[in-house]
Amino acid sequence: MHVKKFGGSSVADAEKIRQTVAIIRQSSSEPVSVVLSAMKGVTNYLVDAAEMASRGDQNYKKNIEAIKEKHLNCLDELFGAKKPEGLQEGIENLLLDLSEILHGVELVRECSLKSMDLIMSFGERLNCRQVAAYMNTIDVPSVYIDSREIVKTDSTHGKGNVNFERTYREIQSRIKKDGSVTPVICGFIASDDTGRTTTLGRNGSDYTASIIGAALDADRVEIWTDVDGVLTADPRVVPNAFVIPQLSIQEAMELSFFGAEVIHPYTLVPTTDKDIPVYIKNTLNPSAEGTVITKHYTKKERAITGIASIDDLCLINIEGGGMMGMPGMASQIFSSLADAGVNIIMITQASSEHSISILCRREEVDRAKDKLKESLKPAIESRKIQNIEVVKELIIIAVIGENMIGQVGLTGKLFSAIGEANVNILAIAQGSSERNISFVIEQKDKEKALNAVHKKFIG
Ligand code: ADP
Ligand code: ASP
Ligand code: MG
Repeated sequence: MHVKKFGGSSVADAEKIRQTVAIIRQSSSEPVSVVLSAMKGVTNYLVDAAEMASRGDQNYKKNIEAIKEKHLNCLDELFGAKKPEGLQEGIENLLLDLSEILHGVELVRECSLKSMDLIMSFGERLNCRQVAAYMNTIDVPSVYIDSREIVKTDSTHGKGNVNFERTYREIQSRIKKDGSVTPVICGFIASDDTGRTTTLGRNGSDYTASIIGAALDADRVEIWTDVDGVLTADPRVVPNAFVIPQLSIQEAMELSFFGAEVIHPYTLVPTTDKDIPVYIKNTLNPSAEGTVITKHYTKKERAITGIASIDDLCLINIEGGGMMGMPGMASQIFSSLADAGVNIIMITQASSEHSISILCRREEVDRAKDKLKESLKPAIESRKIQNIEVVKELIIIAVIGENMIGQVGLTGKLFSAIGEANVNILAIAQGSSERNISFVIEQKDKEKALNAVHKKFIG
């Protein structure tokens, strides 16, 4: 069994869908399970529509029209006058459901995460229907599968936690492994115990593919996208970035956690459990080798395998002479941030214990600061803590590589390269795995810093 996942850019229009189906067809010697995202841009249209409707902004209707036009044009181009019976009607009915839900959001002027998951689910549902129908008309027997029936999560909306036992059972009983029919499975969407729609988080179709692969003990999971593989850096920022032919699981995980959006960060968890290799391939250039991610690591010549970064971060500096030797201070800070639902991206504490710095996302920083002020009130009033300061418009850069382990002097060289580029570093962290050095800089220095590090260490 091969699992092939195609992202939004691989199904952006009728032409791309034809290319995608040609790739699926070429591997007909093996049974294939196909996982698809929504057509490119559709999930963003849906999110924007929901936000507009919740403000009472009528422009949400324009988004529905745009989504409708995209799909109906695609049907015309794929099938011409020979549309399978009921297909266009099915698509139009889904769009009617979507309009009604958004009208509901407009009336109540609020869009909960629950409603947002339901609204976002339309992208994958619309696309997988049309692609499955297209495959059938060109004699690739296929069946549409709504993942809400097979991928089960808890009720955490926006980013559900997968119930693996139940999910694997559902997948195994639903998907035939004999290759007689190719399932076309909606990526990204799932449901909870009560049957309500959930999602696996933005970009989550990669994760769906690896869950399907692990459930079926697939021989390989392929993620087909719009670049030739995992590159040494984000090609939109570092034009000289190039493909990394082989990555260890840890390297790939670190790169994806630190913003290399080419794979969703959780993708490698299910496949690693089952020792399934993951390939990243380019739909627009299928003959390119791509990247393979496996347990077995082939040593690279250079010290640094790749660089990644996360935008839109803030640093909270908690400072005070009285924090020295006060046991429990760090734990109090972390537990109050956890209570406020703030995700901590990085922590540093100077050994003088004079300050603790916490990096979090921009949208969480106000909540984080308010919560800290409240929970640390006694320490602030007794002047043990003198200042809680927030620095905005920051990014984190992570430099990643198996070969970094035990390399004496690498950190020094790295930071002198940053210094030569005239970029100021606000905080630094290195995990004990030594596979990752992360540092925080200002957003405005992103391009300069990434290119300087890439040039010096990667080439
Ligand atoms: P898909 O729609 O196929 O899921 P995504 O847009 O989610 O594709 O991910 C692919 C994009 O990720 C690429 O077009 C590229 O711009 C971006 N990207 C960021 N960092 C990297 C990286 N290190 N290697 C490859 N692509 C990267
Ligand atoms: N369509 C979803 C998104 O845009 C999931 C995905 O593409 O992986 O986030
Ligand atoms: Mg993606």
